[in-house]
Amino acid sequence: MPGYELINKKDELAEIKKIFNNGSVFFRYGFKNIRNNKYLVSEFEKKFSKKLRSKYALAVSSGTAALRVALAVLNLKADDEVITQSFTFVATVEAIIESGAIPKCVEIDDTLNMDPNDLIKKISKKTKAIILVHMLGSPGRIDKILKICKKNNIIVIEDTAWGLGATYKKRYLGTIGRMGTFSFDYAKMITTGEGGMLLFKSKKDFLKAKAWHDHGHDNNPKFPRWEDTRSNSGFNFRMSELQAAVGLAQLRKLDQVLKFHKINSSKIFNKIKNISEVKIRHIPLKSSPSNDAFIFILPTKKLAKICKMNLNKNKISTKILPEAKTWHFCKYWAHMYELKKANKKKLYYSFPKSENILSRCISISINCKMNKSLPNMIYSIVNKVLLSEK
Ligand SMILES: *Cc1c(COP(=O)(O)O)cnc(C)c1O
Repeated sequence: MPGYELINKKDELAEIKKIFNNGSVFFRYGFKNIRNNKYLVSEFEKKFSKKLRSKYALAVSSGTAALRVALAVLNLKADDEVITQSFTFVATVEAIIESGAIPKCVEIDDTLNMDPNDLIKKISKKTKAIILVHMLGSPGRIDKILKICKKNNIIVIEDTAWGLGATYKKRYLGTIGRMGTFSFDYAKMITTGEGGMLLFKSKKDFLKAKAWHDHGHDNNPKFPRWEDTRSNSGFNFRMSELQAAVGLAQLRKLDQVLKFHKINSSKIFNKIKNISEVKIRHIPLKSSPSNDAFIFILPTKKLAKICKMNLNKNKISTKILPEAKTWHFCKYWAHMYELKKANKKKLYYSFPKSENILSRCISISINCKMNKSLPNMIYSIVNKVLLSEK
């Protein structure tokens, strides 16, 4: 979170006004004679890929769409499996189900991301790809996972919905795997209301995705759009010029968002680290997270529950954790049960390790604008709970 705090008329509205001054074309393709040579979605893609030092970018209508388009590139068959982690937003698995493949989830570890040891156990001959999620903006044990995937010939897609601007060994998250996806929904690092982006290493993948997200259109310059050629089928996941206008203004604020997040997160860290019973979420060495949230782990589920209650009572909101039900923990997704009923495939529903960690976590949402007294308040509430429960 959250670029939305920095939205103003001077930047975002000014970009939208430019569209009206240039012929009011809201569509990313065509209408050449009335658009004054302005293509904002293309411009947003170029600036985004340049910022993240990636070669190819494709803007789409949402982060969920970005995942669906990435999977479309892989030509998955009905029996293929795509592995992701038990702790993610349900969209990751929705995209796998929509692509026709079988989703498999694996346990998480103390990074709150994919546990490489459980990944090894769940790989089968049918495993075609994994979707690595950088939950709440911080990476997992990437090197280990990449090694496992390389050995087993498995494609890596990164769901970087929370991790825009975060890095691992000086590389931006979302540029490490074969493809990376991003979300610009209202709660993400930068927002276009709804929107998403894909980054690609290979031109071939990029061209396939570009056509597929636009009904298969080649956008052949030799023909008008309605006579355009097409090499394969597709769907419509296009971004509009209006979204891209906001995206351009928001992208310019990304560094500012990252800076505020880092400052505010470390203020909370500097307080919480003084409580010896509390563990901080493991952040792998050489990574610089987006600090979307600050997460610490308590010794028991009961203590986490009481801490959450007391934080909420004092109007300090917790984000996703410890509850993580319904939307962010695989164990509770109805989708998985429906799928099992539909095709009688073996799926995993038991994630004791993940459940144990998640139920003991407290996640504090990080904002750009933070109440000065917040770190102290969190510290004293957590400290008081731990003392009184001794
Ligand atoms: C937000 C999110 C998505 C989906 O993005 P939308 O733009 O809301 O469709 C996908 N994966 C994760 C991990 C997310 O947090």
